[in-house]
Amino acid sequence: MSSDLSDLYQQVILDHNRRPRNRGRIPAANRSAHGDNPSCGDQCDVFLRLDGDRIADISFEGSGCAISMASASLMTTQLKGKSAQEAAGLYEQFHRIVTEGKEPEEMSDLGAFAGVHAFPARIKCATLSWHAALNALRGDTAPATTESHTD
Ligand code: ZN
Repeated sequence: MSSDLSDLYQQVILDHNRRPRNRGRIPAANRSAHGDNPSCGDQCDVFLRLDGDRIADISFEGSGCAISMASASLMTTQLKGKSAQEAAGLYEQFHRIVTEGKEPEEMSDLGAFAGVHAFPARIKCATLSWHAALNALRGDTAPATTESHTD
């Protein structure tokens, strides 16, 4: 593994791969969306239990590369308890981190993904589960595919 890649696979990412959080379908889910990243072969389903405008519970299932699965796991921990608007704000922040390598202003595990910006092909891996989650929040049942996004 090159030193660049070891930077990319930081401790937070390794930890989420070893012990994925909120993995598996939540029984009381009332929203779900599928995400597909054909350029890498990543697949991800995101399940939400929405309570009004708030994400009362969230989980994911899927298979794919280390970046995509770690990102999905971390995403669930970040979005649980958040409103739809807060979730959209977090995605904007995460998107800047993975496309610009900009570390978050406040200490956040999302910063672990800053190294992804040096590997443009992996940005889709990192954002896949977020696209699925935002689709589920919007009630958009069409699968999220990274091919319809420039990022
Ligand atoms: Zn991937």
